[in-house]
Amino acid sequence: MKLQKPKGTADLLPAETAKWQYIEEIARGVFNDYNFKEIRTPMFESYELFSRATGETSDIVTKEMYDFEDKGGRHIALRPEGTASAVRAYIENKLYAPEVVKPVKLWYDAPMFRYERPQSGRLRQFHQFGVECLGLKNSAVDVEIIAMADTLFRQLGISGVKLSLNTLGDMESRKAYRQALIDYLTPFENQLSEDSRRRLNENPLRVLDSKEAEDIAIVKNAPAILDYLNETSKAYFEEVKALLEALNIEYTIDSNMVRGLDYYNDTIFEFIVNFDGKELTVCGGGRYDGLVEYFDGPATPAFGFGLGIERLLMIAEKQEINFIPEETLDVYIAVMGEKANLEATKLAESLREQAFKVERDFSNRKLGAQFKIAEKLGAELIITLGEDEVRTGQIKVKHNQTRKQVETTLKAVHESFAPIFEEIYADEIN
Ligand code: ATP
Ligand code: MG
Repeated sequence: MKLQKPKGTADLLPAETAKWQYIEEIARGVFNDYNFKEIRTPMFESYELFSRATGETSDIVTKEMYDFEDKGGRHIALRPEGTASAVRAYIENKLYAPEVVKPVKLWYDAPMFRYERPQSGRLRQFHQFGVECLGLKNSAVDVEIIAMADTLFRQLGISGVKLSLNTLGDMESRKAYRQALIDYLTPFENQLSEDSRRRLNENPLRVLDSKEAEDIAIVKNAPAILDYLNETSKAYFEEVKALLEALNIEYTIDSNMVRGLDYYNDTIFEFIVNFDGKELTVCGGGRYDGLVEYFDGPATPAFGFGLGIERLLMIAEKQEINFIPEETLDVYIAVMGEKANLEATKLAESLREQAFKVERDFSNRKLGAQFKIAEKLGAELIITLGEDEVRTGQIKVKHNQTRKQVETTLKAVHESFAPIFEEIYADEIN
């Protein structure tokens, strides 16, 4: 039997996970600076949570859901996106309670599952950083969160990411626009793709999101939402734009952008980067003021985004951002002969307890081979333990670059390695 990982999934080996850890550390730092707190929700939920949240006509529901019936006959889905889960958790755990400070600011770093056709930047298990901010409607919330994504790109050193912005307006504006779209698209009905024909009456805004060439040609001249905004929606969008300008965050308006999910209103946005001549969306989000109420929670305005980590890495790699930390080791213990095994084990444990990063030889290689491995692992210091050292308790600690040596005892190292460490580095500091 040939063992293979499922289509559209990836194994992240240590060289790869080192990059993930680097990105995750920076992201955590940024989320923390904006006072967002981490939430972890189950990787699977009831199918209905996602089908109702993202909309019955969304790609996620019609094509991409990883769903199954569990042994108890429940209809379950692997999480395709994070917002529905966060909203469910917000309601179920009563985070709307008055004693919880608003807005509730949450972030997650989590695997998502979508049954997609695997290709570059499109996996069946992928990962997102997501943030959700619940409990307040203020254009400054929208802008703070957009700025947070922008900050993350800057801190990672990623350039060329462009902010694309649109508004869907409030319910009233959306209703007026929906009708205008139906009126515009209906005469073209027979020229639309099959998906778009179906969506025309169920959810005409979806047609704007189509990637089919025949739809794109028709959509190009469609009426723009911006002409159907009522005064409130227009004013809100103006505030968002003014705040972005105040922060010197550049944006372009894309009045055809609708985003893949159904729950948005007012501000929506994407961060897009040109990748091998194609537009690649790395982050998308927006405002969803109706979703909590839709799931029978109290009326709760909210704003959030999802950011694809694999795509972030693709871009960073393309831009040759060097985020692979070098191999480092404080101490390598070279071990000669069976008799040294016990002392080596004790010594390694003692040094690790003193917070030094330590590796040792386990396989009784020739000393020269051990030194080569120490070099490869980036060891700063080498302690050699052979039968003599074990018998006398006298050892030498050698700096692998400067070759400086300090003579000491096993007992002294067990007591405290720090002074020995300092002695070796003393010349470098002066
Ligand atoms: P697309 O239009 O590319 O399908 P989407 O609208 O479905 O994107 P969202 O649901 O907004 O994407 O998800 C947010 C982010 O998650 C995307 O911008 C992207 O970076 C990432 N993402 C979405 N689907 C995948 C996938 N199948 N593989 C890898 N990353 C993905
Ligand atoms: Mg998609």
